[in-house]
Amino acid sequence: MLFPPSDVRILVCCVYMPCDTSYDLTNRREFLDVLNEMTNLAASHSVNHMICCGDFNTDFNRVNSLHTEVLVNIFSQENLCNFQGTQLYKVDYTFESFVDGSRSILDHVFLSENLKGQVKCIHTVHSPEDMSDHCPLLCELIIPRFADPPTDPQRRSPSMRPKWSGAPSHVVDEYRAHLSTLCDENVAPNEVTSCHDVPCNDWSHRRALQNYHDYLVAACTVADHVIPKGGGPQRKRIPGWAEHVKPLHQRALFWHAIWTQCGRPPTGAVADVRCHTRRLYHKATKHAATWKKVQKMKNSAAQHPNSVNGARSDVEIVSVFKQKYSNLYNSVGYDHRVLDDTRDRVNELISSHEASDCHAITLHEAKTAVSQLKRNKHDGLAGISTDHLKNAPQPFLSHLTTFFNGLLTHGFSPDDFNVAVLISIPKNKRKSLKGGRTG
Ligand SMILES: [Zn+2]
Repeated sequence: MLFPPSDVRILVCCVYMPCDTSYDLTNRREFLDVLNEMTNLAASHSVNHMICCGDFNTDFNRVNSLHTEVLVNIFSQENLCNFQGTQLYKVDYTFESFVDGSRSILDHVFLSENLKGQVKCIHTVHSPEDMSDHCPLLCELIIPRFADPPTDPQRRSPSMRPKWSGAPSHVVDEYRAHLSTLCDENVAPNEVTSCHDVPCNDWSHRRALQNYHDYLVAACTVADHVIPKGGGPQRKRIPGWAEHVKPLHQRALFWHAIWTQCGRPPTGAVADVRCHTRRLYHKATKHAATWKKVQKMKNSAAQHPNSVNGARSDVEIVSVFKQKYSNLYNSVGYDHRVLDDTRDRVNELISSHEASDCHAITLHEAKTAVSQLKRNKHDGLAGISTDHLKNAPQPFLSHLTTFFNGLLTHGFSPDDFNVAVLISIPKNKRKSLKGGRTG
């Protein structure tokens, strides 16, 4: 069973075991083989949790049975528990003999130890309509799911993005102070800070990490309300404009102002200078090379293809790209078994590596990494940018350090980290053909 969108994998085995025996070693062998098969399945499929249930034909009170000891030993080695003796276990019997009416508990459910917190109740259902000599064993589990990724991501439009470059320093200080307060109000989740178990696959820890991530992102977007908005893409510069055209433009404006102050004379020295500077400016803007460049820039910005492979609407075009990239990324075949083996090998190396728990990110490293980020780079989804991090106060960076260490320990990444934003850049076909490029 796979619990999307997180990749929590639960292996559920339901068995019907041979009748127990106090002397038949072949029977015992068969019983043991089935148990081993289940634990092998769990190991070879790298599952997060395991549930073994069914008719084990073994009552724990039957101390003379060869099966009882085998069952107890195997499942305790695998950290599987059946909750018998706990308050959650409300099973009186699961089998009632049609012959003599004797009752026993032959059916069991064994769950991974890390599911302990999720079990609500284990009980039997006795119904007069039940035609079997066994009665159903019910195990109620509360299986938490991570929040579904938003189907329609609430992207911040470019006009709503903070414009960091134009923000005065005292405003950035305000952002920093607000974010610092928000960081102080929230302590890192205990599941994240206290767990140093490298192969930890407790999903409550992963969920805590996801919530921690969501809180840090939300804190940034709440604190940035003081920053002026409108930090979207800037208009493209026209090449050569500042060097060749702008000085002539300003000179023409200057002489036009002088000419206006002089009462707009139709002739005379001032009128001539005004005409001359104006002509020079117009000539520059009409200069063939510059004009071509300007034209090209305008064209390239305006001419978006209105159809891709016959698809016309935005939704259809997105689906074409989706299909193309799906084919591309799946074009190299692979053997699932080889991949599983490799993953198991890597997991084994990680867990057997003695110093694995000392590879932690320090606050200093986090600060250095943030300082090396380029400005004005956006995530494309949650609406935060590298500037949110570069302008963040120390308490936020401490949280960031704890958060990334949690991700490393748990081999987990939040949903947002797995979202890809694809921006297609239509190619200039003529230019490609001229250059002899066909790709
Ligand atoms: Zn953990």
